[in-house]
Amino acid sequence: MLKIKSYVKVKSIAEAYELNQKKTALVLGGMVWLKMGNRNISTAIDLSGLGLDTVQELDDEFVIGCMTPLRELEIHKNLNTYTQGAIRESIRHIVGVQFRNCATVGGSIWGRYGFSDVLTMFLAMDTWVELYDAGRIPLTEFVNRKKDNDILVNIIVKKKPLSVCYMSQRNSKTDFPVLTCAASLIGEEVRTVIGARPGRAMVVEDKQQFLKDFRNMTDEQRTEAIEKFAVYAAENVNTAGNMRASEEYRTLLVKVLTKRAWEAVGGMKDEY
Ligand SMILES: Cc1cc2nc3c(=O)[nH]c(=O)nc-3n(C[C@H](O)[C@H](O)[C@H](O)COP(=O)(O)OP(=O)(O)OC[C@H]3O[C@@H](n4cnc5c(N)ncnc54)[C@H](O)[C@@H]3O)c2cc1C
Repeated sequence: MLKIKSYVKVKSIAEAYELNQKKTALVLGGMVWLKMGNRNISTAIDLSGLGLDTVQELDDEFVIGCMTPLRELEIHKNLNTYTQGAIRESIRHIVGVQFRNCATVGGSIWGRYGFSDVLTMFLAMDTWVELYDAGRIPLTEFVNRKKDNDILVNIIVKKKPLSVCYMSQRNSKTDFPVLTCAASLIGEEVRTVIGARPGRAMVVEDKQQFLKDFRNMTDEQRTEAIEKFAVYAAENVNTAGNMRASEEYRTLLVKVLTKRAWEAVGGMKDEY
């Protein structure tokens, strides 16, 4: 059970940060994860009065407040136009609509969960996190940082030209994913992200540059490059077994989902 001694609805991020420096204090997102654990909290810090629950679209970036519910991202017209529906695809399988109305993007990214669809999707874009104390840092860096007492204020997605595809494999609808995969072209940068390995989502470096110049390849060249890269990804992404799937099955999925996602980005297959 979660036991909370005192509750503060803060009036500023500065106040939240100050309260959060105490080891036993805790920031609340939508509480859907927190409520599952056993914990004694001295001060629960509620950010819900700070107007951080919206998506702001600027000329060059989307600024997404940490308290924005996942459901808001799932149905956000311009975010889904920008990602060709990939954001919707990454979120729509998470539990149910009522759950997604409560779960926040801040809690999802801050948690850096090893099963996260959300983290996989955001890593496939030029995403930055805005922390109260540490300022703006790339999500690719934040994902491997140790948890500290900072506060995640906003998530920023830079509006670079983007082609992206998101896929996940689940044993049954609404369960945690067995594997997640996102393939993207961010400007000229090629990025592949694998999550739910079941470790934290990771960017698969294309060290041998199989996909270099992907935009200018012919369909034949793309088919060959994708095939080779999918094998390379399966060989280089660490997977493990747990109650949902074995290590071998996950490694097979790395290969299959990587291939399918890149085929979709390359316009060779619309759907699977
Ligand atoms: C049953 C269940 C099934 C799920 N299935 C999936 C799934 O299939 N795919 C998927 O991607 N996710 C899944 N999730 C995760 C879910 O989508 C949320 O990401 C997660 O529960 C966080 O929820 P929350 O926003 O309510 O955060 P909370 O539970 O309120 O907080 C989570 C953590 O983040 C911290 N935190 C929250 N906001 C901030 C902030 N602004 N700054 C600093 N720290 C902060 C809190 O202190 C806490 O440590 C599942 C969760 C549950 C409980």
